[in-house]
Amino acid sequence: MATSYSATEPDEGSGENEGARGVDLEKIERGVRLILEGVGEDAERPGLQRTPRRVAEMYAELTEGMREDPSEHVRALPGDRHDEMVIVKDIHFASLCEHHLAPFVGKCHIAYIPKEGRIVGLSKLARLVESFARRLQVQERLTSEIADTLFGGLKPVGVMVVMEAEHTCMTIRGVKKPGATTITSAIRGGFRKDSRTRAEAMALIREK
Ligand SMILES: [Zn+2]
Repeated sequence: MATSYSATEPDEGSGENEGARGVDLEKIERGVRLILEGVGEDAERPGLQRTPRRVAEMYAELTEGMREDPSEHVRALPGDRHDEMVIVKDIHFASLCEHHLAPFVGKCHIAYIPKEGRIVGLSKLARLVESFARRLQVQERLTSEIADTLFGGLKPVGVMVVMEAEHTCMTIRGVKKPGATTITSAIRGGFRKDSRTRAEAMALIREK
C-alpha cells in the first residue's frame, strides 16, 4: 500500500529582507531604473519611485535558494520502519526561467520508496523543492536536481519527480499559448526498472 499526501503550501519567507543577504540590491535597482528608462518611462514619477527597490527585493527573494544548501532538507527521520511508497503531490512552486527572468509556476509531485525505514518529513520535501525553485532555472534541470538530491541524500529504493508548470515566457509573450503546461519527470533507482511501480505512482499522482 502506498501512502499518498497532498502537500500544504510551503512556508512563506518571513521578513521583507529575508533572503536578501549576499544580494547587491543597489546593483539590481540601478538595472531596473535602466529598464524603466529603456522602455521610455519616467523613473522619477511618483508611481515608479520605489519600483526599483521593490523589484530588487523580489529578485532577492526569488533567488533565495542560491544562498542555501538544498541537501540540508534531506535528513532521514529517526526510528521509522515505513518501507512502502510515499507520494507527496501538489507541492506548489514558483521559479524563474533563466532565459527570460520570467516566472514559471506550477506543481511538483514526488514519489519515493524508502529503504531501511529512512523517510523524510513532508514539509522538508516542500523546502527541498523551494530551495531548487528559488533560483534561475530551466524546468528540466529543476526536476533532475530535486530527484538527484533526494536520491543521494536519503538513499531510497527509488525516486520519481514529476513537475507541471506554466511558463509565462511562453504564455504571455512569444508564441502566446495561454494554458500550455510543460511536464517534466525524473526517475531514479528502482522506478527505472519497475514499470508496474512507476505506473502505480503515476496513477496516484494523477488521481484527484
Ligand atoms: Zn523563458
